[in-house]
Amino acid sequence: MDVKPVSKVVIAGGGTAGWMAAASLTRLLGKSVSVTLIESDSISTVGVGEATIPPIRTLHKLLGINEQSFIKATNATFKLGIEFSGWRNEDHAYIHSFGITGKECWAGEFHHFWLRGLEKGIDADFGEYCFELQAAKAGKFGMSNQQPINFAYHLDASKYAQFLREFSENLGAKRIEGKISKVNKQSSNGFISSLTLADGSEVEGDLFIDCTGFRALLIEQSLHTGYDDWSHWLPCNTAVTVQTKSVSEPLPYTKSLAHDAGWQWQIPLQNRVGNGLVFCDKYLSEDAAIARLKSNVEGELINEPRAIKFLTGRRRKGWHKNCVALGLSSGFIEPLESTSIHLIMTGIVRLMRLFPFKGITDSLIDEYNTKLDSELNSIRDFIIMHYKVNNRRDGAFWDYCRQMDIPESLKHKLDLFQETGRVFLDDGDIFRVDSWTQVLLGQGMVPQQYHPITAEMSDAELTKFLSDLKAQVDNAVAQLPSHQQFINQHCKAN
Ligand code: FAD
Repeated sequence: MDVKPVSKVVIAGGGTAGWMAAASLTRLLGKSVSVTLIESDSISTVGVGEATIPPIRTLHKLLGINEQSFIKATNATFKLGIEFSGWRNEDHAYIHSFGITGKECWAGEFHHFWLRGLEKGIDADFGEYCFELQAAKAGKFGMSNQQPINFAYHLDASKYAQFLREFSENLGAKRIEGKISKVNKQSSNGFISSLTLADGSEVEGDLFIDCTGFRALLIEQSLHTGYDDWSHWLPCNTAVTVQTKSVSEPLPYTKSLAHDAGWQWQIPLQNRVGNGLVFCDKYLSEDAAIARLKSNVEGELINEPRAIKFLTGRRRKGWHKNCVALGLSSGFIEPLESTSIHLIMTGIVRLMRLFPFKGITDSLIDEYNTKLDSELNSIRDFIIMHYKVNNRRDGAFWDYCRQMDIPESLKHKLDLFQETGRVFLDDGDIFRVDSWTQVLLGQGMVPQQYHPITAEMSDAELTKFLSDLKAQVDNAVAQLPSHQQFINQHCKAN
């Protein structure tokens, strides 16, 4: 291995991944390393990636980003979860929220108590015991010390990259505009030594971060790291996207609407809505998808629809030699649960914790890649679950998903839940038990048993426990302002 100290970091690419990496490295390691980012004005960013999950707030706190400035600069809105319409079957909808449903208990999670309640005749949905979920349904949002709320953002991806660019440049990151035309390697060990730009200049570095998007210029085109194709489990391979003018107040959640060959997203920002139709081109043509998207969206189109092709899967190694891949260059699972930006963040944090100040060693690389493996596998399983557990009867795409083989790790989780109602998390699971239960129950999987711990409560105690919890949620939601009111008061973009 190359035990040369690492002090010069070169980031190739300036989309969300590139600027998140530049912001974090300059802010947190800027005294020890220099950061240079190369991006080409002639190669556009992917232009999507506008829904996030709550840990993004942790990164912002770590970087000292002012929340109000960030929200105003990116036209952001608050996100409390995702509504899945038509996923269980054509007529059903449920919300996967970021909240905790009911109360946590050492032995059996809340859903066991709710399942016993159902048996005893209560008629409240599982989601009625979740504050964030009910706030989302009511179109409300607020923050108070009495009732903490777990949330993420919808944001404008281009404005977010611009915001992070200013943040990084103010802290000393150097930006070079130019097209990378050649990746130069050391003959001794195959490490990248420099990048040659179209104007002939050369940028040297010790560690290279590949943020060149689907091109994967360094990690794949130069280092040939390899790709694991997951399209047999996650068959969608195209998205057609378009932005529309808002026709109503922004909802505090993302919408995911299933259709006969995939699904469609609606991501509300302060000033517009991002829309995308995700599908598998074996079951729907691009032209038909564009026509369908145009007829489904609510407001006036802001731009012409465009298609983005992708192959679900992952780069075999996130860190190979002296190159770390972040963002789309490292692979793409699916936009369904908004996990890509999150993976950029966890990649950055892991890299900083393992940063090779004294030189790159096999043990550092192995640790990075092992942790990445478990994280990716758990996200992969969570997303496959949405497709596998479906009861749609409108065509070959959903039949395929229902009948397809799934990874053993997911099969075990589904069997355990169906047979016993239990959910246990794996190492690296970013989704909590609450997420698994909300989505499994939402998709229509009802366990054959619930935990016997619930028998410790009498029927009367259980009824009171459930109705008190529901009343608490209802009261807390009643206190909240509408999502739009909250934005107007605290963080309205100009
Ligand atoms: P890009 O945005 O493609 O940026 C690549 C950069 O590399 C650009 O700056 C480009 O100029 C530069 N570059 C490329 N080649 C060269 C070269 N030769 N020389 C110099 N510069 C070069 N994620 C979420 O978290 N939530 C979502 O809701 C979500 N939805 C998505 C929907 C779809 C359909 C897709 C495809 C992705 C979605 N993602 C989502 C993923 C998200 O868009 C990406 O993770 C994120 O935008 C990061 O992209 P990137 O920076 O890796 O690549």
